[in-house]
Amino acid sequence: MSRPAFDDIYMELAVNLARRSHCLKRHVGAVLTKDTRIISIGYNGPPPGTHNCDEEWPEVGCPRDSKGGCSLAIHAEQNAILYAVKNKTSVEGATLYCTLSPCLACARIIFSMGIRRVIYYKSYAEHKGIATDEGVDFLVKFGVAVEKYAGQLSNATQMI
Ligand SMILES: [Zn+2]
Ligand SMILES: [Zn+2]
Repeated sequence: MSRPAFDDIYMELAVNLARRSHCLKRHVGAVLTKDTRIISIGYNGPPPGTHNCDEEWPEVGCPRDSKGGCSLAIHAEQNAILYAVKNKTSVEGATLYCTLSPCLACARIIFSMGIRRVIYYKSYAEHKGIATDEGVDFLVKFGVAVEKYAGQLSNATQMI
């Protein structure tokens, strides 16, 4: 039996967390780890105690901001970081797993918080047919190690 890498295990968790999102626009999950241990998790959605897009606007979808994104949702990466910070957990030197390459706003926060490595599952730019991922470009430019997940999620889930 093959032994899963931590990258496989945490990326699979991020994918499963994405499925919990209430947002109609997009489902994204994130896992923050340090020294191979989980320190926080997140998925995209409105702040607790506000709205659930799918319950409140099941037909029309969530209200959009001027760029066409969900006007209410906090991105998965930010939710993971905020939860850690709120609980006084340092994210300095952490690794972030996310199901979609981070946007520029998230990239700035990821860099500012001292996260050193980012692994993403799908490229937003590829999905949208844009030339480059501006968030990834920003992170790479300022020395954060960014990788597109190259493992096999099937390595993680395998019934014993
Ligand atoms: Zn939404
Ligand atoms: Zn973002």
